[in-house]
Order: sequence, then structure tokens, then C-alpha cells
Amino acid sequence: MNVKLISIGKELLLGEIVDTNSVFISEQLSIYGIEVSKKIVLDDNYDAIKEAMKYEFIDADILILTGGLGPTDDDVTKEAVCDFFESELVLCDDVLQSISSYFQRRGRKMVSSNLKQAYFPKNCKILHNPNGTAPGFIIEKDNRTAIVLPGPPHEMKPMFSSYVEPYLLKRSGKKILTTNINTYGISESELEYRLKPLMAQNNNLSMATYANFGEIRVRLSVCDEKNDDISEILSQYTLKAKHLIGDEFVYGVDCDNMQSALVKLLIEKNMKIATAESCTGGLLSKCITDVSGASQVFECGVCSYSNRIKEKILGVDPHTLQKHGAVSEQTAREMAQGVLELSDADIAVSITGLAGPGGGTAEKPVGLVFIGVATRKKTIVKQCNFNTLNNKSRESIRRHSQLEAMKLLLDVINEQK
Ligand code: AMP
Ligand code: MG
Repeated sequence: MNVKLISIGKELLLGEIVDTNSVFISEQLSIYGIEVSKKIVLDDNYDAIKEAMKYEFIDADILILTGGLGPTDDDVTKEAVCDFFESELVLCDDVLQSISSYFQRRGRKMVSSNLKQAYFPKNCKILHNPNGTAPGFIIEKDNRTAIVLPGPPHEMKPMFSSYVEPYLLKRSGKKILTTNINTYGISESELEYRLKPLMAQNNNLSMATYANFGEIRVRLSVCDEKNDDISEILSQYTLKAKHLIGDEFVYGVDCDNMQSALVKLLIEKNMKIATAESCTGGLLSKCITDVSGASQVFECGVCSYSNRIKEKILGVDPHTLQKHGAVSEQTAREMAQGVLELSDADIAVSITGLAGPGGGTAEKPVGLVFIGVATRKKTIVKQCNFNTLNNKSRESIRRHSQLEAMKLLLDVINEQK
């Protein structure tokens, strides 16, 4: 199978962005022993794309193209590929429906240029894009296949795993099994470093990392040409990988995200939870209740932004607030204990901190956040200093506070019993 990659976009040629898509695709294909014979970078130019396809298909079986699927006039990849295959663009109702619901979900208005994204070459296989408005597609004719994917890496990567991999594996007759290790609090480079020995020892194993705001999913894949039962091999690798990464960073295997892991664990342990949030303004409660089944475990959430409510509803001692301030270990402790009492839950969590951008002092800088977790037996408080984050925006500090709180909850619940 002769595979070539074509990355499309003026910004790539101008050096404004680095072509990481082709690196990712090459890495993934090498897992299955599929070699990439050539990589090309092209401008968003209709004729250049068509010409390149004509030339490269002389010996290539498959071309994988990324980029140029956006709604604007300069994105012409789909049109050029369609023209090369002598097909015609037809309106795809399903895609139109999903694009308009994508905009509806985000409360944005769909403009006419987005309509362009609902047109696809006749007889192609459309690849759904859950993270954006531009679906991809696979088109085949006379033993030539073009696989076309959108440029943004966070859209392209999941589509590659969901559609392109199974497609290529089917064609190559190979068998692959994958599993995901969910981590939080460790960087991508540190993960790679820790897993290096495992990767070096086993050439049928490969990994890819998918980062999303502090959470990183490590996907392990085992590929075997002999079609043996490889599930046992994969479980052993998974065990070793978890050990190498470190238990303190792994919060699950094959979980959707941390909030679903938390809700699942609370259901398993038959525990109810309550929250008292200050600087996150209900974000944690929102995330927990995003998970279906949360009603079985979520007791209540108090958004105690003002000191008055911290005192009146949660029973925080006025002296604590006066002496230590709202952003303090002591206040976090009393908030968690207060909402535990109020709700009669089995576990309670509190968040109080400075999300900024204003309001910081030398003693208490923006990014200082206290997270309390109280159970009937004990209360712990973790101090976080998010001022060391690369992104110190208000949103980032609030998101990290919410994630840290969930991780702390998972750790405390797992420690019990
Ligand atoms: P598109 O609209 O599909 O052309 O792509 C839009 C954005 O995706 C670009 O502005 C880049 O930020 C990103 N992108 C496109 N191609 C690549 C690539 N080869 N590697 C990394 N990022 C890319
Ligand atoms: Mg582009």
C-alpha cells in the first residue's frame, strides 16, 4: 500500500504554523507497518491540488489530505478533489442538519458560507466531525483513494482514530486493539518520557496522546499481523503503562472524562456529593451534572460567592473570614464541612480562590486556590498555585480549579474502604 500525505494551507507555507498533522498521521500509520512514501505541503490553490493529485497518483494507492475544508472561499480542497475524481458536489441533508445543530448548540447563527460545508462529492463516504463544522470524506475510484480531513488537529486526530484507522486496517488485513489510559496533572512530554522504556521494548505497541485542558488520554495500540488474540498482550501493556505513569496521575481506563469517572465511582460506592463553590461559580456542579446518572449522586451545589452566604448558608465562622480571608485554607475547610452538614451528603467539596485577572496581592496572588474535601471522618484542603500555568486567564484558572477538585475527590474516595 503506497500512501502519501498532502498538507494544505497557506499558513503552513508562510511558516505561521508547523505541519503537525502529517507527523501525527505518519506516526499512527507506522503502528500498522504502513509506510508513508512522501509528504507534500501545498498552498490553498485549486490547480496546485489537482495537479499534485494527478502526479502523485501515478504510483500512490492512497492520498491523505488535510486542511482547506473550512467555510471560506480560500478553502478549496474538497472542490479540487471532487474535480480530480470527475465527480460532482451534491447537498448532503444529514450534514446540513448536523452543522446547523452544531451552531444551535453554541448559540451561534449559521451563515451561508457554512452551507458550502454540507456539499460533498457524489458517492463518497462522509466522515463525521464531532468537534467542528467541516466533515471529512473518503472517495475511491479506479484503485485510487483520497482521504480528506479538516486541518485543525483537535478535529483531525479523533476523526483519524474513528474512521481512517479502521478503514486502513481493513484494507491492509491487519488486526489492532486499543485502550485508553486517562490521566490528569502530568504533561504530555513527561508522559512520553515515562513510557519510553515500554515503547522501546515492544515494537508491536504504539501510543498517542490527546490533551484536553490538563486531562491527557494516552491511547495504547497493539498491532498483530497474525490475527492472534491480542487482548491479553494489551492488558499486560496497560498494567505496565499505568505503573510507569504513576497511580497519582491515572484516574481511569477508557473513561470519557474525569466527571464521568467521578460519577461512576460515586455510584459504585453508593455515595452522595455536595459542592460549595466560590471562584468557580458552579462550574464543578455543572460538570458533575453534565453526566447522565448524576441525579443518583449529586445532592446539592451552593454557589457561595459572597462572604454573607458563606456565613449564612454554609456556616463559615465570621472570625475565620475576618482573620484568614475568603481565600484561605480555613475558609475552604469550613465551606466543605458546612455544605456536608447542610446536605447530609457523604462527601463534600469546596473551592475558593482568586480567578483574576484583578484582585491579587503579593501574599495572595491571582491563581491561588484552596480546595477542600470533607467526609464524615476527615477534612483535607489542598492549596493550588495556578499562577504557574502558561495560561493564567480567568477561564483557565477556573477550569483547572474544577479539574483539581474532581481529581482530589477521586483520590479521597478511592482511599476510603
Ligand atoms: P483548515 O480550515 O481546514 O484549512 O484548517 C484550519 C486550521 O487548522 C489552520 O489555521 C491551522 O491552525 C490548522 N492546521 C491546518 N493544517 C495543519 C497542519 N498540517 N498541521 C497543524 N495544524 C494545521
Ligand atoms: Mg485553511
